[in-house]
Amino acid sequence: MQSNIKFDKLNFITAGMPLRTGKGSYPEAFGILKEMNLDGMELEFVHGIRINDASKEIVASAAKENNFVITAHGPFYINLNSKEREKINASVQRIVDTAIAASQAGAFSITYHAAFYMGGDKETVYNQVKFQHERIFEFLEDKKTNVWIRPETTGKATQWGDLDEVIRLSNDFEKVLPCIDFSHLHARTNGEFNTYDEFSRILERLGKEIGQYALDNFHGHLAGIEYGEKGEKQHLIIEKSDMNYKDLLRAMKEFGVKGALVCESPNIEDDCKLFKDYYYSL
Ligand SMILES: [Zn+2]
Repeated sequence: MQSNIKFDKLNFITAGMPLRTGKGSYPEAFGILKEMNLDGMELEFVHGIRINDASKEIVASAAKENNFVITAHGPFYINLNSKEREKINASVQRIVDTAIAASQAGAFSITYHAAFYMGGDKETVYNQVKFQHERIFEFLEDKKTNVWIRPETTGKATQWGDLDEVIRLSNDFEKVLPCIDFSHLHARTNGEFNTYDEFSRILERLGKEIGQYALDNFHGHLAGIEYGEKGEKQHLIIEKSDMNYKDLLRAMKEFGVKGALVCESPNIEDDCKLFKDYYYSL
């Protein structure tokens, strides 16, 4: 069963707690989001799934009270195509644990960077990633989780997760949808995916090839980004990068995308606010 959140809009949420939270914790973070009129938070489990039961409770009830949208980002140490069986198993476990913790904290969706090609050909790696997702869903079967499981479009050519691959996996599993990291797509192609037409084409493909529910329950990432021939180098403040966020937001509005857009710029909440204000000025 999927999350029963029915989105009525596109929500602008921060990747982790706003910087202004400083040494504070979730209550302060949510206070800042509310003050800034932002819509929620992606829980960053990127260095491990470190959230205790009390915090899950705080996040879940803050979300409920304020209509905040919650998502989670799984650990960076995931590679479903590792050459070592233990590392594959640990990766499966990390995705399962992310889904369970996120679900308990009231999230509707989780994302992660699924795998590296490790020199393998795309079809072989696809089948391996698919097989490991079958195992993920076996582990999750009796766990009462209620989140979308989303491999992210990745930023480097060495990483599994181009647009075709995440769309294909979404069609192979009922509970899988893509997390579209627009900045990653732009970086991994060394500059493509940066015009109104290119953004529209992504959204059109999601709607046509997966279904309207992919646009009604959207989860994506946006940040400024620096890239080179090998793809992503680092995230940047949006105004310091060539990422064409204005045309992207225009396309998202045009397509009526609903769900969550996570701002991953280094000045987290400020660019998040910039995106939201621009979107609503259209
Ligand atoms: Zn990511």
